[in-house]
Amino acid sequence: MFTETRGNDGKNPKKVQFSYAILNPSASFGGLYAPRDLPKIDENFIIKIAKKSYKELTLEILKLFDIDIDEDILKEALNLYDGFDDKNNPVPLVKVKSDLFVNELYHGPTRAFKDMALQPFGYILSHLAKKRNEKYLILAATSGDTGPATLNAFENKENIKVVCLYPDGGTSDVQRLQMVTSEGENLKVVGIRGNFDDAQNALKSLLASNSFKESLKKQNINLSAANSVNFGRIIFQIVYHISSYIELIRQNELKIGEKFYITIPSGNFGNALGAYYAKKMGLPIEKILIASNINNILTDLLTTGVYDISKRELLQSTSPAMDILISSNVERVLFDKFGSTRCKELMNDLLDKKFYKLNKNELDTLRENFDAVYSDDEFALETIAKFAKDGYVLDPHTATCIKAYETIKQKNIPCVICSTAEWTKFAPTMWNALQNDKKKYSDKEALEKFSESLHVKIPNSINSLFEKKILHHDVVEKSQIEKTIADFLKG
Ligand SMILES: *Cc1c(COP(=O)(O)O)cnc(C)c1O
Repeated sequence: MFTETRGNDGKNPKKVQFSYAILNPSASFGGLYAPRDLPKIDENFIIKIAKKSYKELTLEILKLFDIDIDEDILKEALNLYDGFDDKNNPVPLVKVKSDLFVNELYHGPTRAFKDMALQPFGYILSHLAKKRNEKYLILAATSGDTGPATLNAFENKENIKVVCLYPDGGTSDVQRLQMVTSEGENLKVVGIRGNFDDAQNALKSLLASNSFKESLKKQNINLSAANSVNFGRIIFQIVYHISSYIELIRQNELKIGEKFYITIPSGNFGNALGAYYAKKMGLPIEKILIASNINNILTDLLTTGVYDISKRELLQSTSPAMDILISSNVERVLFDKFGSTRCKELMNDLLDKKFYKLNKNELDTLRENFDAVYSDDEFALETIAKFAKDGYVLDPHTATCIKAYETIKQKNIPCVICSTAEWTKFAPTMWNALQNDKKKYSDKEALEKFSESLHVKIPNSINSLFEKKILHHDVVEKSQIEKTIADFLKG
């Protein structure tokens, strides 16, 4: 069962099943749904699932949560991992140094780790909508990776429509092409004149607009969300942390029960929350290291206990998927540790004062689980170049993890870093790093140059984008969004 992070307002149900939480992801007082109790995993369980494939071990882990989805449906959803690069090993764990391992989470159709959760999640959500004979609209605002992964996950899925807003000029060419060439009849992609915040704010005001809600009601359309506020994504993000541990054991790098570090390039904290839940379930994680770029709000929180956005402006970096100031899933950790009353208080402070402060005990409690380190673009670019010369290609997001790794590498405990995207999504930055220049390259040129220079392959799904037909041409002002969406829903 799932419960609400900010307590109950008397209108929403207090406890809900998994299917309810994923169809209706927003809970009382603007809170989220979170599991009240987590299942435990012990050594016997690890030994048991270590013999299984990724799909099979995912199913075993999902079965520990009492979720109200039929096993057959879960199996069908997990079959989508067969579409990853290597059907038998969709999530490779690669050894880079004697104590440094990369959990490559990006081998899915859109080359970012979002596919890990969105692929099966999309299948399950569409199944539920069909079964209940209900129609759902998913609205997504994206800075570049959520959009393609959401569109891909819901392409031609029954009873679901997706509208995806992206900042025109604010994504890489590859990311934009992944969206505007989307083929499903049920998908609509709209560029916004403005930045990611504008797209996100447009979406928020739409969700609050009465005329919009009325028009959806008239057409019998419900709203859901596919970002990581939806627990349906988080559950799949617990699994790959457990699988990275199993891989360390399989590769004879660890014995059962020995500890390891997990390092995560973080934005909305969904990936990190998955690791936190895995640790709480019993996975022997020494600590979860949170890597950030210069938008280092999480570093502040986890080192000083202060979350202060009052004096901050969002800065652009070479790791745009981590350019975030309001990191939604931190809320679920605060709830888990301090309960709904305190969580609500902190979240209200953030809303009203743009600031909250944990007391010393609370900070200590968080630091038992987490530590945090940030790095700037210069560090990321140097790191990309250094690792590439040694034969391993890290994307700009994953590169931020190396700073965190450097703080613990004397400890003789293996460190797994989560690689959240393939380099091909950020080719101009990659080529800048290698050339040590700041010139502007097109994605196509940078892809070709980087690939030739390092003899690394560009997957067909990326190469073919440049030949695909552009099907979504709309680029609109914020004021036109509501009408654009209304026209799509009617048409
Ligand atoms: C989404 C994303 C992140 C941030 O993940 P969170 O779960 O939101 O913390 C990091 N890197 C890349 C490449 C991403 O697409």
